[in-house]
Amino acid sequence: MSEHKVYKLDPVEVSDAWKEHAYIDNDKYLALYKESVEDPDTFWGREGQRLDWIKPYTRVKNSTFAYPDASIKWFEDGTLNVSANCTDRHLAKRADQTAIIWEPDDPETPAQHITYRELHDNVCRLANVLKAQGVKRGDRVTIYLPMIPAAAYAMLACARIGAIHSIVFGGFSPDSLAGRVEDCKSAVIITSDEGRRGGRSVPLKANADAAADKSGHVEKILVVRHTGGDIPWTEGRDIWLDEAMAEASPDCPPEEMNAEDPLFILYTSGSTGAPKGVVHCSGGYLVYTSMTHQYVFDYHDGDVYWCTADVGWVTGHSYIVYGPLANGATTLMFEGVPNYPDASRFWQVVDKHNVSIFYTAPTAIRALMGAGDDYVKSTSRKSLRLLGSVGEPINPEAWEWYYHVIGEMRCPIVDTWWQTETGGVLITPLPGATKLKPGSATRPFFGVQPALVDSEGSMIEGPGQGNLVILDSWPSMMRTVYGDHKRFVDTYFSAYKGMYFTGDGCRRDEDDYYWITGRVDDVINVSGHRMGTAEVESALVAHPKVSEAAAVGFPHDIKGQGIYCYVTLMAGEHEIDTLKKELRDWVRNEIGPIAAPDHIQFAPGLPKTRSGKIMRRILRKIAEDEYGNLGDTSTLADPTVVSHLIENRQNRR
Ligand code: ATP
Ligand code: MG
Repeated sequence: MSEHKVYKLDPVEVSDAWKEHAYIDNDKYLALYKESVEDPDTFWGREGQRLDWIKPYTRVKNSTFAYPDASIKWFEDGTLNVSANCTDRHLAKRADQTAIIWEPDDPETPAQHITYRELHDNVCRLANVLKAQGVKRGDRVTIYLPMIPAAAYAMLACARIGAIHSIVFGGFSPDSLAGRVEDCKSAVIITSDEGRRGGRSVPLKANADAAADKSGHVEKILVVRHTGGDIPWTEGRDIWLDEAMAEASPDCPPEEMNAEDPLFILYTSGSTGAPKGVVHCSGGYLVYTSMTHQYVFDYHDGDVYWCTADVGWVTGHSYIVYGPLANGATTLMFEGVPNYPDASRFWQVVDKHNVSIFYTAPTAIRALMGAGDDYVKSTSRKSLRLLGSVGEPINPEAWEWYYHVIGEMRCPIVDTWWQTETGGVLITPLPGATKLKPGSATRPFFGVQPALVDSEGSMIEGPGQGNLVILDSWPSMMRTVYGDHKRFVDTYFSAYKGMYFTGDGCRRDEDDYYWITGRVDDVINVSGHRMGTAEVESALVAHPKVSEAAAVGFPHDIKGQGIYCYVTLMAGEHEIDTLKKELRDWVRNEIGPIAAPDHIQFAPGLPKTRSGKIMRRILRKIAEDEYGNLGDTSTLADPTVVSHLIENRQNRR
């Protein structure tokens, strides 16, 4: 199934310039990788030194994946403070260096440059405000903020006093917010008057009020003054954060935390079901995110690094805030969206701030590709030297567009596979070491031991396709599901004994490169042939008129399952029936007759999570004719998309 044309694009060799410039070349990768898995205590004992420890660790790794006793500990007798590692320790050298560039939603509003000294000052003041409100180490604080610097201040302020933050994406409804507040029992919410996205205001404070009423748990709401819009106010409960911070002391000694003390809780994005409260801890998490940020993105002093994720997702935690700030980097925070005021916005921001490293998601790449090249060509993008992708398999066609049109063949693409649960990137190219193959996340990062198993749990050796598992622990992996350790071991360690199960399907090729084929739950089984969704979708996206596609299985009398595809066309293309036939023939030709879609439905929009991932679970229900029972849809970005799809469903009986 893997022989079709879209996977036959030529590999991209590492250029000589990159080999010289990057931290890691291929020989170094191979040697260090070997050490990292054969002698993890030495490897990680050394890497742990990238942080400042209060009490140095003497034990490095202590973990087991055994079911049901799985337990993960790293650097367990060491103590440190995460916020001190992201701020205080940079002050000697970098006090006046920009830590955060803030680019607002509206291009007319001036950007802000926050230095490490200002960051430190704000974090300490906010930490003192939290203390004054009675927040103590171990308490949970919910953060419900737009993409503004205060989000980073709030995270680091919690870390400073040992409180555990739980960030809820600002696009979530009061109900979703209330559910997450309830789950972790947090008495404090930090929010802002409003948020601003794509020119529209988001009523964050009003939503927080509604959530507080619903949960009955919330004692204090700290409010960032952001847009200045009118908001409801409850005396005694609500506090303006700017006023409280102005009065607070800028001196707040960091709390001494154990490496294994929780740093944050984060709920997964909910592509497959109800979100889980993933718990990440202090020491191992920061060692790993700092190391991957440096090597995967090849971050050097002077780079301007931009990750377009929201801090409400793990990518924002690890690669906007913690990894970059631990490294003393300059990290850009963008309040807006890719297509406002128009589809040039990302590239205009790149030019405005001389961004050299750019990290985004396939959903954005496909949407911008669909809008056409003119929006790109009007910008320079000369400052760019590295591009990254995360969140879903990147279709080879979208990869090629990113590489040729955005990066002008100058910028390697790091396709980083990882999960909320993994804390940091696990499978990825290293730009100075790895030959790139469009659509493949390529090879494991240091210390990561991926493997493929069949449905019985037998190991697949050599090239093949199966379920992706990881054989041993790495420092930034989740430690538990908040308040439900049994759910943790059952979800990740029960399917294949002694292994961490990722839930993803994967193919390994003859070069030992890994290709994520989609979620295991989404695999389509046509007459006994198991097909990853990514394969069919990538074939469709390779057609010049298609910008995005989603494939799901539906019950079929003869084949067991048939293939049902939802297709979004490029801007300006018409939804005509002859095109459906053309697309069916196209897939047949690209992959083979077995993969030819039974039904194609044109879809101007696909149901996505708020982080932009296609929710095939819902598309499957629609194709199966079961739309009375769509399951948990609380994480859907735009529920109206669903009713439109139901109306236009193809295989009505
Ligand atoms: P839930 O676990 O609640 O169903 P989710 O899996 O979407 O939601 P995340 O942790 O945000 O939550 O996403 C991780 C998943 O995203 C991975 O398991 C994988 O399916 C997909 N993914 C992330 N990066 C890549 C990538 N580079 N290539 C392919 N797939 C990726
Ligand atoms: Mg998941």
